[in-house]
Amino acid sequence: MPRGYAGKLLEVDLSREKIWETTLGEGVLEAFFGGRGLAAKVLWDRLGDRWPHVDPLGPENIFLAMTGPLTGIYPGSRICCSGKSPLSNGVIGATASSEFASELKMAGYDGVIVTGRAKSPVYILVTDQGGEIRGAEHLWGKTGEETIRIMNREITGELERRKPNLGLYKEPGIIYIGPAGENRIRTAAVMTKICHAAGYGGYGAVMGSKNLKAIAAKGHGPLPEVAAPETVKVLWREIHSNLISRERFRRWGTGYGGYSVGAEMSSEPVRNWQSEWHDERGIGGPRFEVPYWAKRYWSDFNCTLSCMKLSCIKAGRWKGDITDAPDYEMQAYLGPNLGIFNAEDATHLSAVIDNLGLSGINSGNTMAFAAELYQRGILTREDLGFEMEWGDAEAFTKLAWMISKREGVGDILAEGTYRAALKISKLKGVDVTPYAVQVKGVEVGAHGTRSGRDMNPIGYAASVQGGDHTSSTRDGYDDMRWSVFNDSAVVCGFCSYDRLIWEFARAVTGWNITRHRWCTEHGPRIVTLQQALLLLGGPDIYWNPEKDFDNPPRFYEPLPEGPYKGKATDRAAVEVMKRNYYKVLGWDERGIPKRETLERLGLEYLEPQLSKLRKT
Ligand code: SF4
Repeated sequence: MPRGYAGKLLEVDLSREKIWETTLGEGVLEAFFGGRGLAAKVLWDRLGDRWPHVDPLGPENIFLAMTGPLTGIYPGSRICCSGKSPLSNGVIGATASSEFASELKMAGYDGVIVTGRAKSPVYILVTDQGGEIRGAEHLWGKTGEETIRIMNREITGELERRKPNLGLYKEPGIIYIGPAGENRIRTAAVMTKICHAAGYGGYGAVMGSKNLKAIAAKGHGPLPEVAAPETVKVLWREIHSNLISRERFRRWGTGYGGYSVGAEMSSEPVRNWQSEWHDERGIGGPRFEVPYWAKRYWSDFNCTLSCMKLSCIKAGRWKGDITDAPDYEMQAYLGPNLGIFNAEDATHLSAVIDNLGLSGINSGNTMAFAAELYQRGILTREDLGFEMEWGDAEAFTKLAWMISKREGVGDILAEGTYRAALKISKLKGVDVTPYAVQVKGVEVGAHGTRSGRDMNPIGYAASVQGGDHTSSTRDGYDDMRWSVFNDSAVVCGFCSYDRLIWEFARAVTGWNITRHRWCTEHGPRIVTLQQALLLLGGPDIYWNPEKDFDNPPRFYEPLPEGPYKGKATDRAAVEVMKRNYYKVLGWDERGIPKRETLERLGLEYLEPQLSKLRKT
């Protein structure tokens, strides 16, 4: 058995109520590593021939919760959720920091693969004794906070009785969905730890489509053996001493960006990206610290960086709301993007979104899209049932609930920004797609391209994960090292140091993983497989790479204000950069992987499908 791996995956067929264990050969593990890479491979092997016909929200889709060989051993503990995405119709590796991942490995599993659809709501419990499917009717309809409290109470006591005398017994790691996932909202997240989310991809909706409320994991065994324990120990100490010295990041996390990304870099979404600049000091890390932080340093398993913060609103109309800092992306998408420039309302909306199990980035994007349509008189008070002015936190709270319950216009917005734009264009007889700030069906992260100070101009346009800012592209080489490695290894990007991580990967697995080899073989193999599945797409939307693999139209409009007023993304430069990117990866001018590339990467099995696409 290769080192770093528990050695088996737990498979659960919810339709047949069957559970079994499966193993993958060493060749597959070395070629695709784990997490995002292995998920794409499993999806291709099982659904590849039928891919264009597989409904992401149908029982045929597969939900995967995958660790990687470094998970739990490298500082931090992260889980990668995947499947056919109901947003992109391709494959996205969506990760969230959670003890669920290390508990799963300590229970003896590298991942969980879920197929089919349960007759009624269920959750899966994974322990050292294997997996169990359990009824979850009592959890269905519950918010995130309620779900976590009930599950912790009922599972922890039971497991503790099974294993007495272990001292203070730690609760299981849990991934779960809120009402949004249950109602198959395409922007629903897989949630964990009350306010952590695997947000991109819409995998909360995939769990909901399977009647799967949660997966809980509790392991009592050790983490898997590593190839060179002494080297791992030395590197581990060095990484931790680096992490602990990063005082600014420890103190603020990414929340510090809430003011500076807009004010200094002018690349923050403001009122649905109509602007990317603000100079509002009512938002940003320090504004949240004194009034709301109930826990200043909150860490995920085995991480000394401790960048998370827990916030609680202690008084006033939103009293009792609990969420994280919020981090930069949540501040931006539930703050300035909605015309909100005060910490209290942004914290409240962050708590609402967490509790409903929506992705803050994706659903914040959709809500701002709706607000811009209201501003333009395309959506009206009659459509919404209330006024929808920028900055009105009560109105956005209502809208978030309507989306998560598919009520009224919420049913259309529940389809995500792109699909909602197509539907509203048809209903209203006016093309609203220019206001949809998404790429390949995925709402973009809170980093713009126009000022030239933040996101690379092809960061989203060329990415196999579309608008996912954690998987943005640059040159087809360096970007392999970042998200593709982190999401496959599976480690937290905030802890991932360039030199040390390769030594660590070799010391854990015993394989000759070098930076160059990863950036020219492993990374390209994984994104080429993802690109093939994205191109196959379907069944409701098929992408035209010439038209759709591009930035949102808004990114080509000049910035209306701020220090970079008048700047826009250069369309001609984007085209050149995109073609260069495709060339480096061995894809043709339209982004379709070439035959010789498939042969070089050991992906010849994609050729029959891709040769058809090349002819279209
Ligand atoms: S850096 Fe922050 S998000 Fe990442 S594992 Fe550590 S505490 Fe969690």
